[in-house]
Amino acid sequence: MTSLWSAHLADRRPTEPLDGDTTADVVVVGAGLTGLWTAYYLLDADAALDVLLLDAGVVGEGASTQGLGACSADLAISAERVALAFGRDAALDLRAAMRDAVVEVGGALALEQVECGFGFGGALRVARSTAQVERLGELVATAPTWGDEWSLLDAAGAQEHVRVPGVKAGAWTPDCAVLDPARLVRGLLDVLLARGVRLAERTTAQRVSPHAVLTDRGTVRAPVVLTTVEAGVPGVATGRTLAAVPAHALATTRLDARAWGEIGLEPGVVVREAAHLPVQARRTADDRLLLTGAGHPSALDRALATLFPVADPAGALRWSGRLGVPRDGLPSVELDPASGLGGAGGFGASGVTAANLAGRTLADLACGVESSLVHLPWVGHRSPDWPPLGGAAVSLAMRAAARADAAESAGRRSRTAAAVLDRVPIG
Ligand SMILES: Cc1cc2nc3c(=O)[nH]c(=O)nc-3n(C[C@H](O)[C@H](O)[C@H](O)COP(=O)(O)OP(=O)(O)OC[C@H]3O[C@@H](n4cnc5c(N)ncnc54)[C@H](O)[C@@H]3O)c2cc1C
Repeated sequence: MTSLWSAHLADRRPTEPLDGDTTADVVVVGAGLTGLWTAYYLLDADAALDVLLLDAGVVGEGASTQGLGACSADLAISAERVALAFGRDAALDLRAAMRDAVVEVGGALALEQVECGFGFGGALRVARSTAQVERLGELVATAPTWGDEWSLLDAAGAQEHVRVPGVKAGAWTPDCAVLDPARLVRGLLDVLLARGVRLAERTTAQRVSPHAVLTDRGTVRAPVVLTTVEAGVPGVATGRTLAAVPAHALATTRLDARAWGEIGLEPGVVVREAAHLPVQARRTADDRLLLTGAGHPSALDRALATLFPVADPAGALRWSGRLGVPRDGLPSVELDPASGLGGAGGFGASGVTAANLAGRTLADLACGVESSLVHLPWVGHRSPDWPPLGGAAVSLAMRAAARADAAESAGRRSRTAAAVLDRVPIG
């Protein structure tokens, strides 16, 4: 099912598939946000580069146009976990780079005059149980350690942003913007095509190897081969193993002024319950309430009924996509100078901002620029492989998360769920 965002775009004729063998300076496999930003920053570094983008489908059909459109500084992995694995300075650098990337996305879009409704509105987390209040307290207490800005709100303070029934507390950060992801993808693509990037759609990479990509339409030889397929076809990623986790979206019909008066959510603000398996929500520019979340699609209906009872689900538009989730929750960005093979992925539900940062980093790596980005802890990182039945581990973790959320709503805790979630970071 087409996303709300894509349904509003004017039709575009796809480019021709690859027509036999060819060469390029850099070939980028996968033209979602990561591939597009990578091409953008490659040309920014050297406008004369011959960059060829390949996509198995049509640009704009993948996860990049299916999301909530939250451009936030969050990553699924906590700064504490990054610090444990790579040290405190590395964790601080990654947090700072993610916050900067939110600003960079807005700056690049303004520079290129890409109109996609980018605007800072901030993000709010709401707590409706004692356990959730405790989690928000921890978030706010540890945020300054990592340079993050979160402030604690009491129930009345949270209700000023959104009137969610039963809210006990909230946490607020200004480091979050929203945008229309389909217009972002289309706008970036237009910029790239105008700069001479070559794009071959409906061209599936079947194998990537040093300096070459074998596709169903011919072979591309290039000194640098970058794979940015996220939860795409397994086997073509450069050795990363990502679990493809289903995620869903629900957009109500336009709500009237009375309903918005009761909900009280301003366009631009991203709201999410402080749950283990959270649903995120925002108000679109055309006054729909949009919800997204991983797990079972029915979770969105439950969240709508519980958090926004005034919003009628009748006539809602629904669609689904997949998140690329690494075993340890940390995305990876890599380029092996010897083989010319590289890529980026594993962004979970944080790809809008992380794709920009990864794209800039890949461009620096490919152009040999010794920037601070190429020393971020996710560069050269390999998440441990998922076990052979990785999908089952993810399903188990999502069920555990849902159970833990239900227990917390009833004033209880689930130790087993907490243990499972500690071992399998999802989202
Ligand atoms: C329901 C939902 C809600 C989300 N909400 C948000 C949000 O609010 N904020 C946020 O930051 N992130 C969100 N995300 C995640 C975000 O959309 C992704 O992290 C991001 O789009 C990843 O971009 P990408 O370019 O790496 O991957 P994709 O957009 O998946 O692009 C990969 C491309 O590779 C192509 N491809 C795959 N295999 C091959 C192959 N063999 N050969 C050639 N091409 C291939 C695909 O056709 C696709 O176009 C959401 C995701 C979903 C599904």
